[in-house]
Amino acid sequence: MRVYVAAPIAGIDPAKRDAAFAAGAQAVVAADNDPVLPMEVPPWPHEGPCPEGALSAEGFHNVPCHVRGEMSALIQCDALLLMPGWQDSKGCMLEASVAYEIGLSVTEWADSARERQGSEGSFESE
Ligand SMILES: [Zn+2]
Repeated sequence: MRVYVAAPIAGIDPAKRDAAFAAGAQAVVAADNDPVLPMEVPPWPHEGPCPEGALSAEGFHNVPCHVRGEMSALIQCDALLLMPGWQDSKGCMLEASVAYEIGLSVTEWADSARERQGSEGSFESE
């Protein structure tokens, strides 16, 4: 099963962000599934200028190109794992609503941590 891992990216401390994705990916692998991480998804390929929209931090493509790439990866997954703080992230909210709408199995980190019995998703506390 391909599981898309969604965690806040914009405005998040990179170390914390990477830790969240690493924890999510690890949990997905531990459950014998394949994690799909948004930062590993290529931006939407196109010729000419990017579609109108916000500039991305990376500089080459803008936010719409990355969102298009991420959406195209998301719809090829079977499930979505939402990491802590997803409700405050525009990108995660979008991913969650698309996932619900197209029938993906949606799990929140807290739920999946409970399923693993005892693991508390402790990457949040430092
Ligand atoms: Zn572009």
